[in-house]
Amino acid sequence: MDQKVSSLKGVGDNVASKLQILGIETKDDLIWNFPRKYEDYSEVTPINRLKPGQVTVKVKIKQATGRYVRRGMHITEAVASDETDSVRLIWFNQPYRAKAIKNNQEYFISGNYELSRGRFSIMNPSAELASNFPVNTARIIPIYKETKGLKSFTIRKLIAGLQDDIKQIDEGLPKFITKEQKLIPRFKALLNIHFPPSAEALDEAKKRLAFEEVFTLVLTSLINKQENIRAKSIKIPFKENLAKEFVGKLPYKLTDAQRKAAWQIYKDIEKDIPANRLVQGDVGSGKTVVAAMAALMVMEAGYQTAFMAPTEILARQHAKSLSEMLKPLGMADKVVLLLGSMKPAQKKNAHASIKSGQASLIIGTHALISEKVDMHKLGLVIIDEQHRFGVEQRKQLLKKAGHVPHLVSMTATPIPRSLALTVYGELDVSVIDEMPPGRKPAITKIVSPNSKKQLYEKIDKEIATGRQMFVVCPLISESDKFDYLSAEEVYKELSKKVFKHRKVSLIHGKLKTDQKEKIMSDFAAGKIDVLVSTTVIEVGVDVPNATVMLIEGVERFGLAQIHQLRGRIGRGQHQGYCYLMTGDSKAPGKRIRALEQTNDGFKLAELDLELRGPGAIYGISQHGELDLRLANISDTKLIASARTSAQEFLDKGEKLSNYSWLEKEVAKNRLITTLN
Ligand code: ADP
Ligand code: MG
Repeated sequence: MDQKVSSLKGVGDNVASKLQILGIETKDDLIWNFPRKYEDYSEVTPINRLKPGQVTVKVKIKQATGRYVRRGMHITEAVASDETDSVRLIWFNQPYRAKAIKNNQEYFISGNYELSRGRFSIMNPSAELASNFPVNTARIIPIYKETKGLKSFTIRKLIAGLQDDIKQIDEGLPKFITKEQKLIPRFKALLNIHFPPSAEALDEAKKRLAFEEVFTLVLTSLINKQENIRAKSIKIPFKENLAKEFVGKLPYKLTDAQRKAAWQIYKDIEKDIPANRLVQGDVGSGKTVVAAMAALMVMEAGYQTAFMAPTEILARQHAKSLSEMLKPLGMADKVVLLLGSMKPAQKKNAHASIKSGQASLIIGTHALISEKVDMHKLGLVIIDEQHRFGVEQRKQLLKKAGHVPHLVSMTATPIPRSLALTVYGELDVSVIDEMPPGRKPAITKIVSPNSKKQLYEKIDKEIATGRQMFVVCPLISESDKFDYLSAEEVYKELSKKVFKHRKVSLIHGKLKTDQKEKIMSDFAAGKIDVLVSTTVIEVGVDVPNATVMLIEGVERFGLAQIHQLRGRIGRGQHQGYCYLMTGDSKAPGKRIRALEQTNDGFKLAELDLELRGPGAIYGISQHGELDLRLANISDTKLIASARTSAQEFLDKGEKLSNYSWLEKEVAKNRLITTLN
């Protein structure tokens, strides 16, 4: 199956290079390149009963003639007959047709029967000699993703030539599962997904292949969970008085949801099974203090906590707020910041205090996993916005301790239930579904570029009252590829014209860290009125006086991402406003409109999942790993039966090593789902 397509008959350099554009390099790629859609030409109709539309006839052809008509257009006409009647066939600009047609041979002709110049004809049909296994006619015809110079009929022919290979493909799933779930054999599903003999056969093929996609995901997460349970961690005793003291010294009262999440973590880490919990809660729901409570208990037990944030700005912010929270307990000096951008001497100090154990709450970015850090007493890892870390990075960090540390990850991007049950099935989940009191969600409005002027005037009035504004752009600089406004262009426009009487600044990921820090701290201090940025401000940045956000080219962003962005504004006592500027004047789609209608991060994530697939939410599709070709990840019935089977597989003590295909799939899936 790894054999290159170039070894196949009919694949020269040209076809091979076109196939490569479609991502097809091997036989296996060809077989797993499923049709995009199908057209049903399966019914052969006698000519005297043809009705306008897509038709198939079984005919002999005569009088095929080609000629050039005006403006270099070529026309081939032929007369096709069966025993009932005759019909005209017309091809445009396919001059080879007339010669290719053999007299007195029976053909299948499939095409559109329609009125052309006063009479009904079959236009631009596919034609092939009648046989028991037609490929381009007289069947449910697969339509593949095409590219310039490579049409579906070439792909069809190649796959039809692989039928014998397909028949050799292993079953893959245990027999008890295919039986229980009433699944057709794997090879048959693959044959039928390309060349379905009937609509029912196609449905069965899809059912089988969708099942195995979800089954392998669920099985992976159950195996991960099993392994996690077998691993040893450190028991962190719960000290109620300490927790009470900490909470009592906070400047606010915890919400019930925060209390519950903290409690769930305490229960987890009391055991010597490594915790593997995800805390999800909207932006501003107060996840940081929950993390602090977890760290507190671990520190008290004499172990260290590593707290990883996605950006240096956020790591600094966390270090500051965690130190403040721990100060009343006399533990502020236990917090140490470790960042890639720190000077060597600073780093050395940080490393030394980590090594000596003097620092027990280590906050940083991925620099935390750099080789030099000694974390032999690491008891807990907290990962803020976990989906922003690669799996490899997580693994490295978890390796450092020698034992498996407890893991708590936090995210503002909700996991839709379907994904929680499949891809992330091994995680325990806490949901902070309650906002601290007094929060007013930002008012969100879609605006067309046409009404920019009025909008700017309105915003200027808001700025005049002392408020601040974010402008978020999808790109840093101008790009030929995309039509969207870049941060640099918008900055120019706003600083030189629209808001030239205001203080306007620009921040983006290409700036040096100290530059970014300076700008962010100036903004936080109110020295900047309008901050033009890319998504570097996406997570965590807390500036309560910022009340307006304008998002340019809003279509370019994921819903969850926009939802996070707008969580940055209206964090103080003033009402926040989020304006979504569409890239052009066209009416916005359902996806973007949903942002106006709901402030529920869960609903938005579900919708993004439905409309754009799981990759849109977690950015995992870019790794090319979570590649669901057939399964609809929101299909709860499918997920339920896959779970039943996967659980049964494990309960029966089945060995993965007895199922080579399954073993390989699970290994592949683990790359995206494993947290330890
Ligand atoms: P997120 O969940 O987005 O990480 P944070 O932990 O940054 O949210 O909290 C957002 C803000 O809410 C912070 O300023 C924090 O001090 C405040 N906060 C957290 N919990 C509460 C609470 N129970 N009552 C009032 N304010 C709170
Ligand atoms: Mg946060």
